[in-house]
Amino acid sequence: MPKAYLGLGGNIGKVKDNIEEALRLLQSHGNLQVLNISSFYETAPVGYADQDWFLNIAAEIQTELSPDALLTLCNEVEQQLKRERLIRWGPRTIDIDILLYEEYESNTDRLTIPHPRIAERAFVVIPLLEIAPDLMVKGQRIQDIADKLNHQEIRKRDND
Ligand code: ADP
Ligand code: MG
Repeated sequence: MPKAYLGLGGNIGKVKDNIEEALRLLQSHGNLQVLNISSFYETAPVGYADQDWFLNIAAEIQTELSPDALLTLCNEVEQQLKRERLIRWGPRTIDIDILLYEEYESNTDRLTIPHPRIAERAFVVIPLLEIAPDLMVKGQRIQDIADKLNHQEIRKRDND
């Protein structure tokens, strides 16, 4: 069954609860299993600075859904958790991105895989590195990508 990596994050409300609920909702459809999740990471906002810090994780999943159907499911779960899209890159209850899907590549506006901003964002790369240290992204080792982003603020959240 195909494997994929998702990035989940948010900065409004009880974000840890929202992420856990999103994982539960994704799995409740029956044709998706979460295999592994990273620690929770606290990250400084990118793009629009006047907002709370984000909480982010990466998840490894296996699914019978096509990449397109997986995106539709991710969008449905975002809607179920009442995601607000008021400001681009602004505050949100939950964001679910498809980071990688096997070796699949897509370049449409609706679906770009590998996710176009993986290599720029520590909040994507650091959680991904934790659960998939041998991963290659567009020909680069994930560890090498992470090393280039070590100026960005990110910290592992204490368990609670
Ligand atoms: P961002 O994730 O960049 O902060 P949004 O979550 O608002 O922004 O996503 C905007 C659009 O990105 C969505 O309508 C979705 O169709 C599109 N998109 C393209 N590629 C992907 C992907 N790999 N995962 C999730 N959404 C994607
Ligand atoms: Mg998104």
